[in-house]
Amino acid sequence: MASYCHRRYVSRLFQNFGKLQPKSKGQEIGLSCHSHKLMLYNDIIAQSYAGGFHILPIGLRALEKLTRLVDEEMQAIGGQKIAMTTLAPESLWQTSGRWAAAGSELFKLMDRQKHQFCLGPTHEELVTKLLANIAQVSYKHLPIKLYQITRKFRDEMAPRYGLLRGREFEMKDMYTFDSNEETALDTYNGVCGAYNRLFDRIGVPYVKVSGATGIIGGSLSHEYHYFADVGQDSVLLCERCGVQMNKELAAEDGSLPSACQMPAAQCDLQEQKGIEVGHTFYLGTKYSSPFKAVYMDSDGSTMIDFHMGCYGLGITRILQATVEALSTETGIRWPSLVAPHQIYIIPKKDGNRGEDYLAAAESLSDSLTQRRHLQGEIVIDDRMNLTIGRRQVDADRLGYPYTIILGVKALESPALYEVVETATRETTFMSIDQLMSLADQIQTI
Ligand code: ATP
Ligand code: MG
Repeated sequence: MASYCHRRYVSRLFQNFGKLQPKSKGQEIGLSCHSHKLMLYNDIIAQSYAGGFHILPIGLRALEKLTRLVDEEMQAIGGQKIAMTTLAPESLWQTSGRWAAAGSELFKLMDRQKHQFCLGPTHEELVTKLLANIAQVSYKHLPIKLYQITRKFRDEMAPRYGLLRGREFEMKDMYTFDSNEETALDTYNGVCGAYNRLFDRIGVPYVKVSGATGIIGGSLSHEYHYFADVGQDSVLLCERCGVQMNKELAAEDGSLPSACQMPAAQCDLQEQKGIEVGHTFYLGTKYSSPFKAVYMDSDGSTMIDFHMGCYGLGITRILQATVEALSTETGIRWPSLVAPHQIYIIPKKDGNRGEDYLAAAESLSDSLTQRRHLQGEIVIDDRMNLTIGRRQVDADRLGYPYTIILGVKALESPALYEVVETATRETTFMSIDQLMSLADQIQTI
């Protein structure tokens, strides 16, 4: 009975309530984009209000995996995780000058004493104040790298495309504190390295470009983009001279129309639509100076402003952007590490000689679940009134990386299982031993 608790059945999932799948693309049904349609119609997310989305159980599994991946990479470079408050006092935003500058993008509210707050859209003020309040940070403690993964709030002018541009969303924001510009730039490069490793592990093609610094400020900035038609940024890339920049930056610094460094005839500048999934800034002393966030130098008496950096990743945006990049017209495709479940088992309808395919599916699920990394990763489609083909359509639509079909051969001895790899649509018949070694190769986080 104990193992029964670990089994997952399609009939029990908070999903698949029979919503009819629209036949046309997102835009044609007024849903702005492909991934938004797929996530909404497959109960991955549900709209709460314009720009606000509930993350449903299947979606949250994927989001939590992505979060663990981000945690691993941030901690691998010495990041320490914190959780700051969501409410930020007006006074701190006045100190930085951003209360006015951020304007109506800030969600503002007032407490009973008539003190104003905003719901944090980003946390440079709060984290700098936190460091300023800590007495006596010494040069020996540096660099300090703090990060959080929390909900951010921005009253976006045009929330759209589901999680791609919400009015509340999950962001990973890291803040670094160094003793001088040189070490701060080392730290900056270190964080960019962690971003590269993270995006490599997710496995969706991306590009790192020079970016504009905008309202965050600072003097050096890069953006990470996924390529997608619905992207709201344009990136300029030239393979010949290596230019990689946001078009907005090229316009700002006057290098348009020829951002490319090559003579016009050899220039091969391409413009592509991108979704900004990450952003890095070198801030210098822009925040530490007004907040008097200082450390004590090696002479034991001089107090010096921190040289700071800040680094964002749009966690919920990344989740949907990967779906946008990988999915087919009718089926969700996840980066394999992030897929909510790895394996989908479809037992054939029971035969009239008393064969019990569901029981065979359950015992296969129990065997696979003995591999610790597959615990919680296996779903049994127990809708025994449906044909295998009908259930396979659902497995494909929901994007489980592997489907295992239990047909007649699964009850023969030795048993053979039909394994379909979703990404390639390749079908192989496997013995239990082969299946177990496939299971060992599946990576989970
Ligand atoms: P954009 O230009 O797309 O509005 P931004 O430059 O305002 O983004 P940052 O302030 O750098 O964004 O925020 C860090 C990251 O948070 C972004 O790289 C993006 O991935 C994510 N992000 C920003 N705004 C949103 C939003 N409204 N919904 C979802 N994710 C967002
Ligand atoms: Mg923005």
